[in-house]
Amino acid sequence: MSTPTRFDARLSAHHRRPRSFEAPRQPDGHRSPVSAYFGRHALDLIKLRERLPREAYQALLGTLKQGTPLPRETAETIASVAREWATSHGATHFTHWFQPMTGLTAEKHDSFVDLNVQLAGELKVLEKFSGSQLTQSEPDASSFPSGGVRSTFEARGYTAWDPSSPMFLVESENGRTLCIPSVFISYYGESLDHKTPLLRALDALDRRAVAFLKLLGDVDVQAVSATLGCEQEYFLLDRDHVAMRPDITMCERTLVGAASARGQQFEDHYFGSIPPRVLAFMEEMEFELHRLGIPVKTRHNEVAPMQFEMAPIFEQVNMAVDHNAVAMDLMRKVALRHHLVCLFHEKPFAGLNGSGKHCNWSLVTDRGENLLEPGRTPHQNLRFLAFLAVCLKAVHDHSTAIRWSVANANNDLRLGANEAPPAILSVFVGDLLTKVIDRIASGAAAGEDPEHFVIETGVAKLPQLARDNTDRNRTSPFAFTGNKFEYRAVGSSANCAGPMTMLIAAAAKALDEMTARLRAKLDGKNGSRDQAVLDLLREVFTETAAIRFEGNGYSDEWKQEAARRGLPNLPDTPSALAALADPKRTAFLVEMGIFSERELGSRLNVSIERYIKTVMLEAETLVEILNTQVLPAGEKQVQQSAEAAKAIEAAAGKNLPLAKRLGCLGAAVGEVAASVDTLQSVLGRVDQMHDETAEARVLADEVRPAMAAAREAADKLEQLVDDALWSLPKYREMLFVK
Ligand code: ADP
Ligand code: MG
Repeated sequence: MSTPTRFDARLSAHHRRPRSFEAPRQPDGHRSPVSAYFGRHALDLIKLRERLPREAYQALLGTLKQGTPLPRETAETIASVAREWATSHGATHFTHWFQPMTGLTAEKHDSFVDLNVQLAGELKVLEKFSGSQLTQSEPDASSFPSGGVRSTFEARGYTAWDPSSPMFLVESENGRTLCIPSVFISYYGESLDHKTPLLRALDALDRRAVAFLKLLGDVDVQAVSATLGCEQEYFLLDRDHVAMRPDITMCERTLVGAASARGQQFEDHYFGSIPPRVLAFMEEMEFELHRLGIPVKTRHNEVAPMQFEMAPIFEQVNMAVDHNAVAMDLMRKVALRHHLVCLFHEKPFAGLNGSGKHCNWSLVTDRGENLLEPGRTPHQNLRFLAFLAVCLKAVHDHSTAIRWSVANANNDLRLGANEAPPAILSVFVGDLLTKVIDRIASGAAAGEDPEHFVIETGVAKLPQLARDNTDRNRTSPFAFTGNKFEYRAVGSSANCAGPMTMLIAAAAKALDEMTARLRAKLDGKNGSRDQAVLDLLREVFTETAAIRFEGNGYSDEWKQEAARRGLPNLPDTPSALAALADPKRTAFLVEMGIFSERELGSRLNVSIERYIKTVMLEAETLVEILNTQVLPAGEKQVQQSAEAAKAIEAAAGKNLPLAKRLGCLGAAVGEVAASVDTLQSVLGRVDQMHDETAEARVLADEVRPAMAAAREAADKLEQLVDDALWSLPKYREMLFVK
């Protein structure tokens, strides 16, 4: 059999039919409603309540609500319920499932099988799952990124069950596995994952938000948490095409490739009719997610060709983060069944829109009240404004750390690319709120009767007004959208725990300071509570004014204006990391108990290591493609064209246009060859460097631009070379052969 060519790949992609799968059906053959199987593969609280003895269930609730340690017997009981439930659904194995700093999820499976030696020495096999197997496991931590918090001689790491996120079943071709959502920590208790800091941040937020609410007069609130609904963007490509592209296979993005004449200029893909093969993928993926209790709600085409989005209904942040991580893993797997590859890279195609993961989030009380939702009464609206101020202060005071939480080599290619939010962090609140905030900040409140003021400024009417607040500024990295914030700078491949940890920690710190200031005002004197709150709001709105921006975030004027305001512009990961070298910018993380100094150092190390590894991998892959695919095609073309020119010259004398084409070709091949040289010499220099910070800087300032120049040269050549000689699938094939 000969090696398949790009043409075979194009044809086979073209002939693929949508795949059908075995969806549950009603007696009349129609698909069952989602509610008939939603959550069937998740061991949620409802199932636990039905299966656990009363005291055991109460003990679990105590752990979930008050954080009391789970008694050992309860763990045993839950383990046996979990084993029974899982094996009755065909599970043979269990695994602690966790989110190390690789950006992926991790699992190490163990069978439920155990051997029981009988009295007579006979062996009996049975299924066993103990409380300690449920609560803790000890995978070797030495092969996960730790940024230096543990060396190989202290390789032990622990995964510990996080009971706040339900266990679930993962299905493979031939069986099922019980997955136990877990945190991952070192032998000395240092966090090695994304979940631990998030849980710590939630804890920090909870205590401080409750204290603040009590001062505001909401004395019955017991707990405050955060909600998250993330809109996940992704690309789908045919597997055959990807197999022929070393760049996408290795780096999840194109490193060369000329844009096709058709791109997204017709604006015909966004919300367009979903290609049947893709819809079949979405249906199967949604079925699987629904079965796991993941409330996927929305699906649609995105702006770029073959770009799509899915969004679930929001949930408690810890659950939403786990669910997003499961969903990404599952989407990759289901895509393969449809002979597709699902790409979460932030910028797979230069020249087309990149992918983000807008994190919609809010703060919520144990009574289910959304603290960022304007209410019915002036008091509720004052509380709403107070929490709005908390968020403004959080982003204003900690913008560098928040910027860092979305910084990686891939997102660097997307942020600021004229279709994605800029790298400068600012907050958009809309016209109405701007007016209210400015009115309060201008001091008009002082001396006025607060109740009167609240009505006057429209604060009392906020709910109606905020809701039809239709001015949706798509260019802001951080936008208020009526009753929640949308952090849009988050990249599509991110684990949202990173950015959410940062935002929640920053909010906790802002709450800490604002609570102290409000307490001082209340202690200080006679004035009413509302007046004290308004005074505090006036100060905070004034102090944080620089972070608010309502204009076009894509414009150059904004860059200048932001510089005038002193807002940091951190265009890439190395600059974000460099800015964090100032301990003042990270102190709040230690103070709020999110990271120890050592953990923080390790996170910064992991960030920089990942940046270096990513860019190095890209550069090396690019050199290989240029040397082994692009240049050889160009050389063959030169030969072919030279022969043709010679033949024509022999028959009809010199042919000027052909001679010119030959000249262009020669020049294009030369340019590619020269760009390889340049790239290799910079890489050679990087190889000699020993300081990671300096190395990352060179990668951003020299290697990436050299890669872009090489790409430009290769793309020019692509447009001159015989289509049959070009081995890499082109944009038009990858994006338009559906
Ligand atoms: P958009 O108008 O931006 O499309 P949607 O209403 O579709 O907004 O919501 C986008 C995401 O925001 C969804 O995942 C949705 O569940 C989530 N969302 C809505 N309200 C909240 C909230 N209070 N907290 C967190 N996420 C929310
Ligand atoms: Mg949205």
